[in-house]
Amino acid sequence: MQVRDRLHIGGDWVVPEGSDVIEVVSPATEQVMGRVPAGTPGDIDRAVAAARASFDTGTWRRTAPAERADVLDRAADLLAGRTDELARLITDEMGSTATFSRYVQVPAPISTLRSFARLARTFAFEEQRGGRARSLVVHEPVGVVAAIVPWNTPLLVTMSKVAPALAAGCSVVLKPSPEAPLDAFVLAEAFAEAGLPPGVLNVVPGGREAGEHLVTRRDVDKVAFTGSTAVGKRIAALCAERLARVSLELGGKSAAIVLDDAPLERTVRGLLGLAYVNSGQACVAQTRVLVSRARHDEFVDAFAEGSRMLRVGDPADADTAIGPLVSARQRERVEGYLALAQQEGAKAVTGGGRPADLPTGWFVEPTVLVGVDNSMRVAREEIFGPVVAVIPYDSPDHAVAVANDSDYGLAGSVWTTDVDAGVDVARRVRTGTYSVNGAPQSSAAPFGGFKQSGIGREFGPEGLHAYLEIKSIAVPA
Ligand code: NAD
Repeated sequence: MQVRDRLHIGGDWVVPEGSDVIEVVSPATEQVMGRVPAGTPGDIDRAVAAARASFDTGTWRRTAPAERADVLDRAADLLAGRTDELARLITDEMGSTATFSRYVQVPAPISTLRSFARLARTFAFEEQRGGRARSLVVHEPVGVVAAIVPWNTPLLVTMSKVAPALAAGCSVVLKPSPEAPLDAFVLAEAFAEAGLPPGVLNVVPGGREAGEHLVTRRDVDKVAFTGSTAVGKRIAALCAERLARVSLELGGKSAAIVLDDAPLERTVRGLLGLAYVNSGQACVAQTRVLVSRARHDEFVDAFAEGSRMLRVGDPADADTAIGPLVSARQRERVEGYLALAQQEGAKAVTGGGRPADLPTGWFVEPTVLVGVDNSMRVAREEIFGPVVAVIPYDSPDHAVAVANDSDYGLAGSVWTTDVDAGVDVARRVRTGTYSVNGAPQSSAAPFGGFKQSGIGREFGPEGLHAYLEIKSIAVPA
């Protein structure tokens, strides 16, 4: 049982204002595995005030970027030393498999932190421009940042905000999700031990009410949000009222295009990984698979067979490929889409419900839907579970049109033996990231969405820019 009864505000572990707690329930056992304070609006106010004070009168923003980078690197070392503990914690709190936690949920945020430390050392925070008229162009930290994050990759999403914000010299109030708030406490401990000055990083868990209160504080200069498109729109509207800076990483309904020359076995293996990543609870999951009519049946057979082979079960077990969904509510949502698929005329060729042998835990079988038309709701809305729709196409141009026929634009992939043809397809699909044959993205590449998948980019220099204001100072010649 992981119990945290304090909030991290102003460099201290402070007693929360209220007595409400958030119980964290293991998705595998359905038992309470942890407890954290539920931050009140008053707690948020204290955290914002601490962040404001550290930004306005503290040392962090005035510290040389290379020294800030040293603190980031020390925190990365401390987190790396706690990898096993953190991986277990994330598996326990939100149910991702031990393998995914050990090899992605923990190392990816640590390498993100190190990459922003490197950027802080090399980034041109100031530059001279002009000839007769001279300007000094200064990149200043944007100020107090509210970071609001979801539960699915809790530490990675948090780090994609906290690392660039701290590298830039900002102060942060982090509101983790109520489902997976525990890893944020370890993060706060690591930064405090690494020498981050008091008030620069504050952590207050809470739900919708705490989140909205945080977003609407006048002293918050920028909101960095990852979560659903519906909540992203609400946050954007709230930020618009006072023109607060806002960046949004939202949902997706990414399409994989299987070209006719794609080798079956390798493509199926790659797509099983990208479709069911994090048990389908990933914004970038390839949940629409577009296959030509000529190869449709062959692909469906192989993909369904591969889906059936995936071991569903205890996420702590190293052999498990698909863990439980995060909550009973999330499973209901996914089951609602499975029922809707049937009503819309689609058919599950494998899966379609709860695994019979797992009565405890919020499990859903890997499910492959066929007979799906791109106009159906199951092809248009984010399901956020292990559910893949296979959609036939008539020609590569038609495949690109179907991929683009979406309100979302986060990710996508193309599968082919001809990499140049794959890159050509990639250029025509309107998404923020794309992969040829499942190749992984460089950690220096920007990440973010077109259309309703978001506004702004994370990672790389673009990710640092998101936490900087630009000032031009005209200097007499
Ligand atoms: P969510 O939108 O329900 O919640 C996200 C966070 O916002 C939580 O911390 C929640 O407490 C808070 N929140 C909820 N309502 C709020 C409000 N009105 N004001 C302020 N804060 C509020 O999303 P979720 O269910 O936690 O996460 C799943 C979603 O996140 C999916 O849509 C997924 O695609 C998306 N996601 C996107 C990315 C990306 O990088 N694009 C990455 C991971 C997850």
